[in-house]
Amino acid sequence: MGSGQDHEIIVVGAGPAGATTATILAQEGHDVLLIDREDFPRDKTCGDAVPAGAIVRLKHLGMADKIQHEEDAGHFYPLNQLRLVSPKGKVLVAPFSENLEGDSYIAPRIYFDAMIKEHAVDSGAKFRRATVKGPIVENGRVVGVNAQFNGHVEPVRAEIVVGADGVTSTITRALRPDENKHIDHHRAVALRAYIEDLEEYPHEVEFYLYDDILPGYAWIFPLGNNKANIGLGMRLDHFRDTKSNLNKLLQQFLDMPDIKRRLKNGGQLHDVATWQLNFGSQKHLQHTFDGALLVGDAAGFINPLTGGGIHNAIISARLASQTIHNALMQGDTSRENLKVYEKQVDAEMWDSMKRSYFIQRWVLKFPWLVDMLVTHVGENSSLAKTFLSKL
Ligand SMILES: Cc1cc2nc3c(=O)[nH]c(=O)nc-3n(C[C@H](O)[C@H](O)[C@H](O)COP(=O)(O)OP(=O)(O)OC[C@H]3O[C@@H](n4cnc5c(N)ncnc54)[C@H](O)[C@@H]3O)c2cc1C
Repeated sequence: MGSGQDHEIIVVGAGPAGATTATILAQEGHDVLLIDREDFPRDKTCGDAVPAGAIVRLKHLGMADKIQHEEDAGHFYPLNQLRLVSPKGKVLVAPFSENLEGDSYIAPRIYFDAMIKEHAVDSGAKFRRATVKGPIVENGRVVGVNAQFNGHVEPVRAEIVVGADGVTSTITRALRPDENKHIDHHRAVALRAYIEDLEEYPHEVEFYLYDDILPGYAWIFPLGNNKANIGLGMRLDHFRDTKSNLNKLLQQFLDMPDIKRRLKNGGQLHDVATWQLNFGSQKHLQHTFDGALLVGDAAGFINPLTGGGIHNAIISARLASQTIHNALMQGDTSRENLKVYEKQVDAEMWDSMKRSYFIQRWVLKFPWLVDMLVTHVGENSSLAKTFLSKL
């Protein structure tokens, strides 16, 4: 650690991206301060669907026992198939591939995020609750953050700062140039609620694609005992153009005959909340700076078709950690040296972002095509495969 530094690394935000970054770097022996404005456990507005690929990565970091514990406690609900319902009501049911290396879950974020954050601390990262007001920038490079602890703001200095503070990231807003921000075409808004009385299809995630919200969708993600995470999301430009109201749309969704007949007590909703999503389909965004880089939603790595961002947050955490470890060993945390991270992120995610963006823009624009794909192409269609692999 350089003189005048409080820590080697500060990670701002302890969601999946930040807590995974802190875990990997702490396991490599680095001095990591993980900061979040919330105490854990805390909720995060999400569909809570965690694909097998993300679970496998967390197991590789030593979380197998914690994951099993959450499943045994009934907090993580395992999944084994997907149901896609087209605008004309055609139904495709596709089982998850036997080849998947692990389980997929509906894992409410109140449990999932607390588990990863606890693992970061068990791995040696220090956690402090504070609201980061912004990066400290000296001579064009980030040298720490100003953070508010118990009502007073303190500077905390480090060799490198990781912005993992989600879609409204203070770090991203301060560092990314204005012309490099997400535009409405590559953003979405979504509403999530929990429902207590919906007859479930056990272990099955349900996606409803229909005219009012295409190229978005509504979902029902089961939690067992007739409880579910339920919600819907729309691309932001479409949402603005149609002056939509997500609460009304959810009510209309619950009023659809096939859903209504499954409600046991009229539809008991709680924890209704809306939040934003920034897609990874917008090219040429800057993720590295002198002394800082961005991971997860702070960078904008959500899949533009499925709205899934947890797996990509964890992938970006791994790539960022490797880059940071190498940069610290070389004693060079300049943007020039960190830029390799942008190339690696592209190499790992871009093909899938491009394919998902294509389906979202062109296929879902034509509801009849969705009907056709669901009816005739079935579980081998790239639509079904993308939903299956990216949730
Ligand atoms: C309605 C909805 C449904 C979704 N459904 C799914 C799904 O089913 N599956 C899926 O994979 N993805 C889903 N996503 C996307 C997923 O939620 C995100 O991609 C994921 O949370 C990204 O993780 P993250 O760690 O980058 O950010 P976050 O999970 O947002 O974590 C950021 C953390 O930073 C902290 N923070 C923020 N600002 C500050 C600050 N100034 N100072 C200190 N701390 C700060 C926050 O408290 C938070 O803990 C959904 C998103 C929405 C909105």
